[in-house]
Amino acid sequence: SVPLSFFGGIGGASRLGILVKGSNYLEQLAHVDTVVFDKTGTLTSGTFNVVAVHPEAGIDPDSLLSYAAHAEAYSDHPIAVSIKQAYAGEIDRSRIKDVQEESGHGVRAVVDEKIVLVGNDKLMAAHESAWHECDLVGTILHVSVDRTYAGHIVIADVVKEDAAQTIAELHAAGVKSCIMLTGDRRDVAEAVATELGLDEVHAQLLPEDKVNAVERLLANESDGAKLAFVGDGINDAPVLMRADVGIAMGAMGSDAAIEAADVVLMDDKPSNIARAMRIARKTMRIVW
Ligand code: ADP
Ligand code: MG
Repeated sequence: SVPLSFFGGIGGASRLGILVKGSNYLEQLAHVDTVVFDKTGTLTSGTFNVVAVHPEAGIDPDSLLSYAAHAEAYSDHPIAVSIKQAYAGEIDRSRIKDVQEESGHGVRAVVDEKIVLVGNDKLMAAHESAWHECDLVGTILHVSVDRTYAGHIVIADVVKEDAAQTIAELHAAGVKSCIMLTGDRRDVAEAVATELGLDEVHAQLLPEDKVNAVERLLANESDGAKLAFVGDGINDAPVLMRADVGIAMGAMGSDAAIEAADVVLMDDKPSNIARAMRIARKTMRIVW
């Protein structure tokens, strides 16, 4: 077998599918003591399953799903993909007009000449639509039609296989804090944080809140210590650019994220983050 030292440096990392866009990033990576993760698609698979469909009285589950799938027709957000998968029927694009995706909120579209909203409570509030809380644990998508509440769809994602082990490995390597940021609900975020052994979690964030959170962490960094952010979404580009080391999950990641990142992981496994750090430290001759 080939000794690990053979795989040192940028070239070696690239052979393992870890693309580092400059040796300065390898050096920064070697000094990371805070790793900030986006949740969806980074620590979780990003493939949601619809676990429940709860229409309001007088609406059947199929038409609730149909409205949601049509409103999401043009979105490639993981949530939109899951809704379209759960909807058994064909999507008729001639029924859809005026689609607006609102990051961190959801979508607004005109379907059958009616205004359809699909998203979280922030979306409903922003459009002054009727909706009500529900106390289920999960990612909850409210659906409203012409500002009348039509019901909600509960979806669930699973954590990636190697995520918990990666967090443990980063801690063992002296990383002081592993932090998760998410636009998802607090109960979902806390369940994931507990399952993975994360040090800190911030939920219900808009994309700009994620930038602010990272800037606060950067301002409090101790001397010489570096912060890495790992994400995959279009909305993650501004945060990827702020972090000392921006790491993009490349396989499912958006082009904007890949472009904004300093390090791109060709394979979306969290364990590649620990691996990249190990290579960086080895190259800088820092003991792991
Ligand atoms: P995360 O922080 O988990 O990566 P995002 O910032 O992409 O998530 O989205 C945050 C929240 O905004 C989601 O949990 C969902 O409530 C809502 N949302 C975003 N995009 C959509 C969409 N296309 N359809 C419905 N809801 C959405
Ligand atoms: Mg995201």
